[in-house]
Amino acid sequence: MTIQTPSLAIVVPCYNEEEVFPKTLASLQNLLDKLERENKISNSSKIYFVDDGSKDSTWSLLKLAAEEYPNVVAIKLSRNKGHQNALYAGLCTTEEDLIVSIDADLQDDPANIEHMVDEFYQGNDVVYGVRSERTTDTFFKRFTAEGYYHLMRKMGVDLIFNHADFRLMSRRALDALLQYEESNLFLRGIVREVGFPSAVVEYERQAREAGESKYPLRKMLSFAWNGITAFSAVPLRAITVIGLLSSLFSLFIIAWVLVTRLFTDDAIPGWASILLPLLFIGSVQLLCLGVIGEYISKLYTESKRRPKYHISNIIRKADDVSNEQ
Ligand code: UDP
Ligand code: MG
Repeated sequence: MTIQTPSLAIVVPCYNEEEVFPKTLASLQNLLDKLERENKISNSSKIYFVDDGSKDSTWSLLKLAAEEYPNVVAIKLSRNKGHQNALYAGLCTTEEDLIVSIDADLQDDPANIEHMVDEFYQGNDVVYGVRSERTTDTFFKRFTAEGYYHLMRKMGVDLIFNHADFRLMSRRALDALLQYEESNLFLRGIVREVGFPSAVVEYERQAREAGESKYPLRKMLSFAWNGITAFSAVPLRAITVIGLLSSLFSLFIIAWVLVTRLFTDDAIPGWASILLPLLFIGSVQLLCLGVIGEYISKLYTESKRRPKYHISNIIRKADDVSNEQ
């Protein structure tokens, strides 16, 4: 383990966060000051803000902050790539010994980062922030989110219950994570794959400090579905079961048709008895094709090995690497 005081990087993806950004910056700066004073982290620690193609003034604010504070790095993505990709871009840019990822909206209290660092000193490479309370989330969000964790577990996906993307990783854990080259990023699942000693820090999730959620239902559903298909082959297996059941069912209908034909006077059974299984089997086939298609589309995107993000600009006070278009 590191003998010198480790440096800390805090990575914050920001999408249209102009309202909350000033508070977030102040709060994270205070935290770094405190941890540096306590000698828990070195004074070369940094905050990386990643602008995920915001349409408001977020980038101007990030830029100003990076120009003013030597410990702030502002990264601008070429366009909106989504939370996971923005976070990934930030993680790839860090060089520090400890890396914490946190949302820009202060829903996850940054004070917990100190507990995470303490857990690192106890020998843990990964420290998961786990929400003990979800009272500030709407009933709908809580119900669907918790249901989702249970469903993922049932499907054999190893997830930490109520852990999202607030976590600390050591350099070696992050380097291992960055070796996973999948395009369908579901970081909270990949981190579990990586392994290494880990611990959990529980905290109460607060309401957003300012601004609105950048995860509308549509994005949430697509993220959830992506998580399932990127990590579990259970839906694929379920097709076999459905296929089996439907063929048993059609055998039964065939028997019934034969009996009617051979042992009764209703020589011509109604066309409904033909049409019905036909439609039924047809629809099951369609469903199966749909799910198979879902996995094929995954293979398709993975095989292209597209880069997950492009940085259009990085501003650091120390070494100004900027190549704005
Ligand atoms: N975010 C992002 N790109 C997006 C959507 C969200 O970088 O396309 C960031 C956002 O700025 C925030 C984090 O992801 O820092 C989580 O988003 P939000 O708080 O809106 O999600 P919620 O907490 O409502 O699930
Ligand atoms: Mg939030």
